[in-house]
Amino acid sequence: SKTSDKLSAFLESGIYRFENSNVVFIDPVRMLNRSYTRFRSSPSAYYSRFFDSKETIVTSDSKKRKRKEKKTPHDLNEREQAATLRHQQARPMLLKAHGFLMEATDLLAIMKDLRGGSNICSSTELSEQHSFIELGKVWQAPLYEIVLKGASKGLERVVPVFNNLVVNETSDDMEAEFLNNKFILPRESCFYMSDLGQVHNLIHECNVGFNLIVIDPPWENGSARQKLRYPTLPNWYFLSLPIKQLAHPDGALVALWMTNREKLHNFVQKELFPSWGVSHEATYYWLKVKADGSLISDLDLFHHRPYECLLLGYFHGQGTNSKQPPRLRPIKHDQIIISIPGEYSRKPPIGELLLEHVPDFKPARCIELFAREMTAGWTSWGNEPLHFQQSTSFVRD
Ligand code: SAM
Repeated sequence: SKTSDKLSAFLESGIYRFENSNVVFIDPVRMLNRSYTRFRSSPSAYYSRFFDSKETIVTSDSKKRKRKEKKTPHDLNEREQAATLRHQQARPMLLKAHGFLMEATDLLAIMKDLRGGSNICSSTELSEQHSFIELGKVWQAPLYEIVLKGASKGLERVVPVFNNLVVNETSDDMEAEFLNNKFILPRESCFYMSDLGQVHNLIHECNVGFNLIVIDPPWENGSARQKLRYPTLPNWYFLSLPIKQLAHPDGALVALWMTNREKLHNFVQKELFPSWGVSHEATYYWLKVKADGSLISDLDLFHHRPYECLLLGYFHGQGTNSKQPPRLRPIKHDQIIISIPGEYSRKPPIGELLLEHVPDFKPARCIELFAREMTAGWTSWGNEPLHFQQSTSFVRD
């Protein structure tokens, strides 16, 4: 039947498209698995939180926030009003999308099993993990090396791990060893681990322009939980990202993850995109649900929206005046991607969904900036691109 076809397609690809809509449900684990040949991403490691129906998000100051919610429109300052308006515009669309999910009983029935039954491990985060950020800062950083082991014995290389393009050029997964930790590197992928101060080195290391650039900056947001996990940077730092130099001269699709802060939306539209030479074209929404399909928080909770935005824009390249770069397909507006979130701040793998807009470049050259993981065919840059590549997050096929 039609529904079981769709389900088997989902079980294969990790993508469930709701018919005649702009909505997809994805299983990041299945999508990530396309990057690997000998290993599989472990569902229990990915879904370390999984949001069982019992769990709800309670914040220490939720009472204070509740009170704030009750403000009438007249009490809101200008920025809060703008934020409320932005939310009100997206709201009906998000509710409709969530309605599609709640009606897809066949999908709901398998969602609760996406984490798998046995050997639930609560978190893959090891104490060692953060040392990438710390180790990269010490004077000995240039001396640290990583051992790469190809699929066939004998293919072993030792290369600097920081400020160096580390490449798995083979068509097979590679195992790597660094300070007694093991990592899995997907086929045809590479990473450059450095601080933002060295990001310009990427331009020379990767000497062809990128067609797709995904960016998830460490925006400041004042959350104490975030501060424990990775350092953040003031907005103006991101003006220095060399997007123009990284982009393909014929144009590129740029996708930027956002938080819901109104100030940030203003900054990106008025300063950041213009300084990168990027025009804003569309907004995608990532709607976060629990394993039972319900939203992870109340849709109208001001400071804990159950969604995040992905702004899509074009870098037009040199010498084009047209609205759309010559070799890119127009972006559909207001797409909604639904998934169960993984670890804190981890974004779903949207690369493949975006690739349909860069049809003329095969294979497309893709880069993720501030990446914490690697993808087959992609370049990952950030101060901890191996964060989720630890072998404990994988199982052998
Ligand atoms: N997209 C990632 C994911 O899905 O897991 C999350 C990226 S997180 C929002 C931002 C990343 O930027 C963190 O890994 C953080 O360590 C990194 N970062 C913070 N300051 C940096 C700097 N000065 N240079 C390079 N990376 C930095």
